[in-house]
Amino acid sequence: MDSGETGLKLILNNTDDSFDIVALSNLFFPRDGFTEEKGKVLTVTRNGDVFEAVFEWNGTVYRSARKIPAEVHDGERCAIKRAAYDVFSEATGIESPWGLLSGVRPIRFYETLTGIYGDKTEEVMAKHYLVTAEKIELCRNTIAHQAEARRNNRQGDAAMYISIPFCPSRCKYCSFVSQVTGDENKLIPEYLEVLKEEIGAKAASAREQGHRITTVYMGGGTPTTLSAVQMDDLMKTVASHVDVSSLWNTQWRRGAPTPLRRKN
Ligand code: SF4
Repeated sequence: MDSGETGLKLILNNTDDSFDIVALSNLFFPRDGFTEEKGKVLTVTRNGDVFEAVFEWNGTVYRSARKIPAEVHDGERCAIKRAAYDVFSEATGIESPWGLLSGVRPIRFYETLTGIYGDKTEEVMAKHYLVTAEKIELCRNTIAHQAEARRNNRQGDAAMYISIPFCPSRCKYCSFVSQVTGDENKLIPEYLEVLKEEIGAKAASAREQGHRITTVYMGGGTPTTLSAVQMDDLMKTVASHVDVSSLWNTQWRRGAPTPLRRKN
């Protein structure tokens, strides 16, 4: 059990790849920051082509040593992350379905691997990056849908992106422009008024240039931060400026978990 001490101290010997370890640690200890205080201590040491991770937590020491796999293009990152993953996973009992992957673009990663390993891509993802079969299938299906979407595109087709830069909380890995909000937040109504004007102006500009808007994507941020009334108002604005009979794809991003709220 956790002693209650928070914070993770990282000691690196013969390597400076703290970025990957910090990103990976968020999967196992999402509420812990890195600190000089002694709570949990991870020491990663490079000895030749082997990375050794030693994790001390609650009086128990967990160890793993991983050799740089010669057959993987980013073998050093793979080995250092694998060693850290091993000790974190053993200590917490957690296994991530995305394995060693952290961040927000697994599809890009799959496509990068495909360019290097061809039909061995999924084997490499499973063996070296510990991605589960279910997640690999999700990547494969998403890429197939993307290819279909590209095939459906016609000359002059355009997409409208609507940003809702508000979230109920801030994820540690986030690099998006987003404001943490609460029920009391006053920025949203003001933002929506300007946004509605912008939607009208952009839709008019697209029409004048002969573009047909076929996709509306609402991202952010977390669009479901809006109340149902605000969302309804926004969608009515879109419908009043965009020919909805031309839309074949309308999506919202739902980043942080939020129900659609019924109140204003
Ligand atoms: S939900 Fe998305 S946009 Fe919002 S803080 Fe998290 S990662 Fe960033």
